[in-house]
Amino acid sequence: MLDLTQKKALVTGIANNRSIAWGIAQQLHTAGADIGVTYLPDAKGRFAKKVGDLVEPLNPSLFLPCNVQDEAQIDETFAQIKEKWGEIDILVHCLAFANKDDLSGDFSNTSRDGFSTALDISAYSLTRLVKAAKPLLTDGGSVVTLSYLGGVKVIPNYNVMGIAKSALEMSVRYLASELGSSNIRVNGISAGPIRTLASSAVGGILDMIHHVEAVAPLKRTVTQTEVGNTAAFLCSDLASGITGQIIYVDSGYEIMGMSGN
Ligand code: NAD
Repeated sequence: MLDLTQKKALVTGIANNRSIAWGIAQQLHTAGADIGVTYLPDAKGRFAKKVGDLVEPLNPSLFLPCNVQDEAQIDETFAQIKEKWGEIDILVHCLAFANKDDLSGDFSNTSRDGFSTALDISAYSLTRLVKAAKPLLTDGGSVVTLSYLGGVKVIPNYNVMGIAKSALEMSVRYLASELGSSNIRVNGISAGPIRTLASSAVGGILDMIHHVEAVAPLKRTVTQTEVGNTAAFLCSDLASGITGQIIYVDSGYEIMGMSGN
């Protein structure tokens, strides 16, 4: 049985009710996990209010600002987690960012700044958060991140984010190798295209979704809940033998050849 009672789960990356992280947080909560939430703070505090209202039904025992580019804020987040929880069992890394200009047109136009921003927020942040979480993952644990096929195959307009996802997927393997002896598992979910705030910045996201609907074995794209269910499975003891893997939750799209990419 999928049982996450007694598990303390930190979920990053909830921006609104379309966020994949929101789908994941709900499924972890349904399975009995104690939820902690971090959000990206903005100067006017709007995000805090918006995300706070959204997650209230999950009764999170922690609700903290955490910009993954802010070293001090990361340290403060995990200091607060240590104080409140003492330990952590589950870390969900569900965030990414690239400048909109870098998500369409010629890949060779990617600027140096755009490249480092995308890689820093979307890939390095996993390693940085795991570093901060490591001392608190005292009883083993599970780390899950979110990737996309564009990190493995060329997808029009995905551009620099594809490079970031490629780095992210390799980080999953290095982290899994490092942490396996402590019974900490690290996996990624490669989700099919879903309409969210982040994906709306990718040029032609609706075309990508329609293409999946036409070509994927299941003839549809996936939902946040389906991704959330897989995340809950990966975080549970049912997945105790799985680490270092990228699991496709994409209606089977990834297996298809002759798909007209
Ligand atoms: P989303 O916009 O709901 O989530 C992205 C999150 O990243 C937001 O909560 C945002 O606040 C956060 N973020 C951005 N910069 C940050 C920073 N500096 N510090 C902390 N948080 C920051 O969009 P989403 O589609 O749910 O994206 C979640 C993850 O899923 C991303 O890794 C994305 O690449 C991945 N993914 C999305 C799709 C899709 O089609 N939507 C498909 C596969 C993978």
